[in-house]
Parts: sequence; structure tokens; C-alpha cells
Amino acid sequence: MAFKSKLPHQEISIFSVMSKLAQEEKAINLSQGFPNFSCDPILIDLVRKYMVEGKNQYAPMPGLAALRQIIAHKIKSLYQVDIDFEKEITITAGATQAIYNSIQTVVHTGDEVIIIEPAYDSYSPAIKMCGGIPVAYQLNAPNFKVDWDELGKLISDKTKMLIINTPHNPTATRLDEDDLQKLNDLLADKDIFVLSDEVYEHLVYDQQKHVTLLSYPELYKRSFVSYSFGKTFHATGWKMGYLVAPPILTAEFRKIHQFTVFSVNTPIQHALAEYMQEPNNYLELGDFYQKKRDLFLEAMNGCSLKPLPSAGTYYALFDYSEVSDQKELDFAKEVTRKFKVATIPVSAFYSQKIENRVLRICFAKKEETLIEAASRLSRL
Ligand code: PMP
Ligand code: GLN
Repeated sequence: MAFKSKLPHQEISIFSVMSKLAQEEKAINLSQGFPNFSCDPILIDLVRKYMVEGKNQYAPMPGLAALRQIIAHKIKSLYQVDIDFEKEITITAGATQAIYNSIQTVVHTGDEVIIIEPAYDSYSPAIKMCGGIPVAYQLNAPNFKVDWDELGKLISDKTKMLIINTPHNPTATRLDEDDLQKLNDLLADKDIFVLSDEVYEHLVYDQQKHVTLLSYPELYKRSFVSYSFGKTFHATGWKMGYLVAPPILTAEFRKIHQFTVFSVNTPIQHALAEYMQEPNNYLELGDFYQKKRDLFLEAMNGCSLKPLPSAGTYYALFDYSEVSDQKELDFAKEVTRKFKVATIPVSAFYSQKIENRVLRICFAKKEETLIEAASRLSRL
């Protein structure tokens, strides 16, 4: 039967492509961003406990109150911001659903949404699904720094939303106070919503602190802010996350949320609510991943792939321009086949497939995996 595709040019996600190739080639998979170590057994025991206790039916539509309360408490203690758990926090099926629904909440046919490329791959299709038009601001290697004046030139009377992501996937850069202040000034007199994707909030290195949009009241008034339990608690397969937004936007967001999933996994919400009572469970993450980053960079010392700084996230970019002038996707595939290490071509995160000759490597892996991968890559 004939039908008209809603996403006619959409390709299979690069994460699926590279993970599949890694599997076929029996390569070490440093492509898709997920840990290859288990999450805390205490958390698993908690999930089991709540399942056995019978917490297996629908959770309340916005999420379990106890979980939303502990999230509000975390935001207060980390960022000194008061968030009303009843009116401003919704538990979602991963950050992906929080992002998708936020976009659906405000973007109408013909509206423009500015995204900062290289951009996480779910933004653009979500915009297109509601008839919106993604407008790309391009970051350039090696610094990938936003020039807010240049970005401002993309604003038109059709701009409905701007999406930021800090710490940033895939470039591993982060926005600082100066960036957020500039964004604040840029949008001050404009009716533009913001989606701030902060799934890597705890993965910030070198004694730096995550700068959250939640700390900017004038920005927050117009914003949706997304988070992921998967990234924070080494459980990406659970697809659990949450959305923080002011009451009026949350109310509208929930109208859509209740008809996409209604509510999300009940026993896991109970488990997370209890697990988060111990702040060290998320406060120690920065140090934990910084050690992995440093170990991997050390092991890669002497390799002809040259690292770019990784200030946050669990990714690092490597410049391969001294080794090859192949396109990123071709080179990534070749490295997977010949050296048995899978990575991600950053060009996949640009709508125009910009080539910077860099690959993204995920270091959320066991030490022995990182050492073995570095040894294979050193043969390049
Ligand atoms: N945003 C970014 C920048 C990501 O890297 C990811 C992948 N974790 C997501 C959103 C989606 O998060 P989740 O797996 O919780 O849906
Ligand atoms: N966020 C992860 C990454 O960037 C993967 C998400 C996915 O597979 N869709 O690698």
C-alpha cells in the first residue's frame, strides 16, 4: 500500500550502524555511548525488591512523587534552585522522550528550531515530526565554541525554539557561565523557547562545575531541561529520564506525555527514589569517569590519533588527519574492520555531513577494555 513517509530522508541511526558493525566484526565497541560494566548491584537489588513487593502496576502519570521529590532536593542542593516537584518535574522514558515531547509541546508546522551542530541525532527528526524546520548553527573543530552573535543571526520571526546540550555530545565541550549569560541576553526580548539537554550533568571534569540553565531564572521561564538516569546510573537500557520545566510548560508537556507513554516503569522509579537518597551515588561520577578518561588518554599516548580536550560527557574526540584523508564514516568502518575497534564518525551529527577528520570514542568502559582498545589503535 502506498504511503507518504514523514521522515523521507532519515537514515538508520549511526549508533545502530556502528554497533552492528562492531558485532559483525567482533570489534571492541567504543561507538554507541553505553557502559560495558554493570550498574550498582544495590540498585539492581532495589528494583528486584520493589518488583517482589508488587510495585508492578501503572505509576502516577507525572511520575512517582517520592522520585520527583528527591530530584527537586538534588537540584536544590547542587544548584540552589527551588523546583516544585508537583508542577515542574515529569519522569519520562529516557531523555529521548523528554526531548521529543518538549519539542512536540511548542513547535508547530513551519516553526524554525535552531540546533547546534554537531547535534545529538534525535533533535532533528523530532522537530520534523511536528512540521518544524531545523536550522543548524555549525560548530567547528578543534574548539567547537559557540559564537553567540553568529548564532543570533539565524534567529528569524519563525524561530520558535533553540536547543542547547551541555556537556555536549559528541564534542565533549561544555557551556560556561559566559555562554549561558550570552544566551540569556540574546533571548531576553524574544519569544523563543529553549530546550537544554543536560543528560551529562554529572560528567564534568578537571574541577569544573556543570552550569545548568536552571540557574538562570529568565531563561528557565521559557525552557525545558532534560536529564537521563541511564547516563547517570550506568543503566542506559532502562530508558528512564526526566524533564524539568516551569509549571505552565510542564502542564502542556504532560498533555502529550500522557498520550505517548502515560507513565513509566514503576519498580525502577521506586528503586531510583531510594537509591538517590545517597548523594554520593551521583556525586562521585565525575571522578569515576575522569579516571577512565585519563587512563584511556594515557594509553593512547604515542598513537597517531590525536586527542581533543574532553571537558565533559564520556566521549573524547580524536583527530586522525595525520593518518588518513578518508571521510569519517569510511575511516571509522575501516578501523572497525582492520583494527577491531568501533568508533563514531562525528560527521553523522551534522546535517551537511561536515568532515573534520575526527572520530568520537566512548570511554565508559572497563579499564581492560580501554587498554586493549588503545593498544589496537596504536597500531594505526
Ligand atoms: N541527549 C544526549 C545528548 C544523549 O547523548 C543521549 C543519549 N544518552 C540522550 C539525550 C538520550 O538519553 P536516554 O538514553 O536517556 O534517552
Ligand atoms: N547517547 C548515546 C550516544 O550518543 C546513544 C544513544 C542511542 O543509541 N540512541 O552514543
